Amino acid sequence: MPLFATKSTQILSLCKKVASFHRMSTSTGEFLINDPKYSFLKDLGLKATNLGVYDGSWKGSGDSVQSICPSNGKVIAEVKQGTVDDYQSCVKASEEAWSVWAELPAPKRGEIVRQIGDALRNKLQPLGKLVSVEMGKILPEGVGEVQEYIDICDYAVGLSRTLAGAIYPSERPGHVLMEKWNPLGVIGVISAFNFPIAVYGWNSAIAMVCGDAVLWKGSETTPLVSVATTKIVSEVLERNHLPGAIATLCCGGADVGKAMAADPRIKLLSFTGSSAVGHNVGVEVQKRFGKHLLELGGNNALIVAEDADVDMVVQATVFACVGTAGQRCTTTRRLILHKSVHDEVLQRLKKAYEQVVHRIGDPLDDKTLIGPLHSPLSLQNYENTITEIVKQGGRIEFGGKKIARDGFFVQPTIVTGLPHDSPLVHNECFAPIVYVLKTESVDEAIAWNNEVPQGLSSSIFTQSIGNIFKWIGPKGSDCGIVNVNIPTSGAEIGGAFGGEKHTGGGRESGSDAWKQYMRRATITINHSKELPLAQGIKFE
Ligand code: NAD
Repeated sequence: MPLFATKSTQILSLCKKVASFHRMSTSTGEFLINDPKYSFLKDLGLKATNLGVYDGSWKGSGDSVQSICPSNGKVIAEVKQGTVDDYQSCVKASEEAWSVWAELPAPKRGEIVRQIGDALRNKLQPLGKLVSVEMGKILPEGVGEVQEYIDICDYAVGLSRTLAGAIYPSERPGHVLMEKWNPLGVIGVISAFNFPIAVYGWNSAIAMVCGDAVLWKGSETTPLVSVATTKIVSEVLERNHLPGAIATLCCGGADVGKAMAADPRIKLLSFTGSSAVGHNVGVEVQKRFGKHLLELGGNNALIVAEDADVDMVVQATVFACVGTAGQRCTTTRRLILHKSVHDEVLQRLKKAYEQVVHRIGDPLDDKTLIGPLHSPLSLQNYENTITEIVKQGGRIEFGGKKIARDGFFVQPTIVTGLPHDSPLVHNECFAPIVYVLKTESVDEAIAWNNEVPQGLSSSIFTQSIGNIFKWIGPKGSDCGIVNVNIPTSGAEIGGAFGGEKHTGGGRESGSDAWKQYMRRATITINHSKELPLAQGIKFE
């Protein structure tokens, strides 16, 4: 069990504390959306107060949640969330919309997804800026996230003409044995704060060409991205005289998420988030024999072999450890260095960190490389972890402190001196903390890579072909993402993305991940006048 597991109740109470503080001190007129610097938010159709439920029309009868900008702690705007009753109206509308959508030929559905990609292109900059302002990642990454959704739309358009079935040779004369894929129905998407739009994009673009209606619940701390994205998608649907509820939104908290997990009308629940919450969601879905696709926490190691190119290692490691302020599921959390290069890499890494700390700041500033942590809860997790590291005899080689300025900024942190199997090292703290471990050999490093509960991303730097094939082979990395001479983060959409063990086993995006959004029918058609049985069985 993670040491500082992210509990939804903890998030909620912290969000409420921050929100009530702002309610006392901030009137809607003072929301950032009314500051000229943030006027781009209005280009996305956002207002100071927004409705957070869309089931063909906009509504929301739950609490108002104030969305906080992590780089200054101020309220951006507020969203009226959905209740479980609102959720019920969303599922009903989704089911009705599905019966229209599933009738459309897949290439026609692809044409709608192509238009969604174009609509996103038109809003690339303002939407990318919103991702930065609300999540806290730097602008190129905010824009990159929207670009990822656009790319997956392009990919899904191609897929809409290639969703292939199969014909197998039948052993019976006059028979045809086929495999056909049909849509599932309504699928649910629950997403995490750190990729507030791309995860929805990966799921929805592919699910839509597959013929599913999509019901989305984003993170309660990034509701503005959910609302702005749904406005773009719904405008395309409505312009094409299709039911808007093909892509339904229900902003809300754990109550809405729990309702989705328990609901047999949700044929597949795609959940992205922490392993602790994902475990509960998986069990709930399994109780009703539903399908789930789990994309959970990682604890990603980057191994540096004796023969690695150290220049490449340092450059790759800085990006992988401090990029997105350590808030990527694929962030490098363990750096396993061969003893022959350990000291050199550590020294050079510390020098590189000294440079990047001058580039911590407002994610919208083009000089910034590292933005803030996302929330007060993230900050608390970081500080708790640092205290525990010191208590357990870890050495802070770099960083380790909160930065005294508005917002939720911390120093990127390098830690040595903890054993490879310490519970702290085995826990995913979602912050820019990397544990450096000294190893005797590549074999030992691979064993350490595999000994953690999570199995998302992994990477080795080496020039040896023997090491490479050991790493990608049966006794190599047990992760879903297995890289060589590139960092653990920064995956492309063409491959299937996801991980093993406590990362949940799900796969999204490329390759044959689309199959999870469809049901497989094995079909035998007898076009003869005889009734032969398989395996030559005679029943006469
Ligand atoms: P989280 O688990 O706290 O929340 C994720 C989502 O679950 C949110 O929408 C939240 O509202 C919802 N939720 C909370 N309680 C629920 C419940 N009981 N039932 C149903 N839904 C519930 O995660 P987070 O803090 O938003 O995100 C960070 C985590 O996500 C990290 O562990 C990170 O590694 C992981 N993540 C994984 C991937 C991946 O592809 N493997 C990608 C992004 C993030």
